[in-house]
Amino acid sequence: MQYDPEGIFAKIIRKEIDANIVYESENVVAFEDINPKAPVHILIVPKAEVATVNDFTPDQASLIGEMVLAAQQIAKEKGVSESGYRLVMNTMDDAGQEIYHVHLHLLGGRRLKWPPG
Ligand code: 5GP
Repeated sequence: MQYDPEGIFAKIIRKEIDANIVYESENVVAFEDINPKAPVHILIVPKAEVATVNDFTPDQASLIGEMVLAAQQIAKEKGVSESGYRLVMNTMDDAGQEIYHVHLHLLGGRRLKWPPG
């Protein structure tokens, strides 16, 4: 999938568009979802220009790990570490991916249905 450097998340990373940023490191930024689907709904986004999970390359394995470790830390800060949370990476159309800059959803703070619809 072609990456669009003028996409919304690229603009949030460059601070051209506002977002409620809850975490930032050299490689990753995380911010509140504008349309939250749970009391805690954070998007963990790599700064690298990656459109979908399909586009990760083997040299980005540690970046993927950083995303999960960022989620772990944010879950703790948001108080859902022990109550539970879900990490999701919607990939392509059937999964409902809307933003083609890869991101990890962190959802928690309520009982989540399984399987998802
Ligand atoms: P996807 O469907 O691609 O997995 O998830 C995209 C998410 O980005 C959605 O949950 C949507 O609410 C969120 N989103 C879309 N536009 C914006 C925006 O401008 N700012 C923020 N913070 N979230 C957004």
